[in-house]
Amino acid sequence: MSKAFASQADLEEKQVSFTQLSPHAWAYTAEGDPNTGIVIGDDAVMVIDTQATPAMAQDVIRRIREVTDKPIKYVVLSHYHAVRVLGASAYRPEHIIASHDTLDLIQERGEQDKASEIGRFPRLFRNVDSVPPGLTWPTLTFSGKMTLWLGSLEVQLLQLGRGHTKGDTVVWLPAERILFSGDLVEFDATPYAGDAYFSDWPQTLDNIAALQPLQLVPGRGAALQNEAAVAAGLAGTRSFIADVYAAVQAGAAAGQDLKTVYRQTLDAVRPKYGHWVIFDHCMPFDVSRAYDEATAHRDPRIWTAERDIAMWKALEQ
Ligand SMILES: [Zn+2]
Repeated sequence: MSKAFASQADLEEKQVSFTQLSPHAWAYTAEGDPNTGIVIGDDAVMVIDTQATPAMAQDVIRRIREVTDKPIKYVVLSHYHAVRVLGASAYRPEHIIASHDTLDLIQERGEQDKASEIGRFPRLFRNVDSVPPGLTWPTLTFSGKMTLWLGSLEVQLLQLGRGHTKGDTVVWLPAERILFSGDLVEFDATPYAGDAYFSDWPQTLDNIAALQPLQLVPGRGAALQNEAAVAAGLAGTRSFIADVYAAVQAGAAAGQDLKTVYRQTLDAVRPKYGHWVIFDHCMPFDVSRAYDEATAHRDPRIWTAERDIAMWKALEQ
């Protein structure tokens, strides 16, 4: 029997945790489903990654309102993926902030990505009809670094290199040494690398480590609340990316086709990572992208709903 496409068979609801990390930082996590970060400054609230739909974002807002009545002024998009951005309208923010590289990707492939992601993982797009027509557009963009002051609280938005996408942005609270990584770091969850830069990602993780975060909110998985946990999250993500890319590069260098490389890579990495959530969902996309990067495509090709299905059929049947 063939595997259900992507995560279409994943229907079990997750338990949400809303964890206070410091006087200013909170983590909304959900057992491996996409996380949202919250920063509460003197005069305003910042939300980092929105959840997949406005209906799902309402649960984030409900929890924020249990701890503060300050206005939600800023939404930061760590990257362009639909599951991170399509809930933005629920917060009615003054500004939606993203890197200019993320804006490029929204312009270039936002529509295709929206259709593709909704098809892959219906459970993550609960009440998808609450998403307004069109895309989520930033109102402020930056390149490299942007600093916001929420009253006396300094919040840095940083591009530390490419990895999960071309436009990855992390949010850094220097006084408390807390970092919100987006999907650059995952914990007990499989990194999705279908739009990734495998050769750049490890250096970007080193750049995160160089900040010496005391706590880190990953894109998926529990908040990492001490330096040992942060180190474990960085090391796990780094080794997965390195192991997948090494296996794919070896197969590509030997002239093997994608399906052969896929099977070999799956066998090579399943013992170490097969228990991480969304492993079976991610692997066909991750290996396809790694094979592209190891052969003919420096930049990720656009996934469409049609390309998703064609790839899945080619690799899984
Ligand atoms: Zn993502």
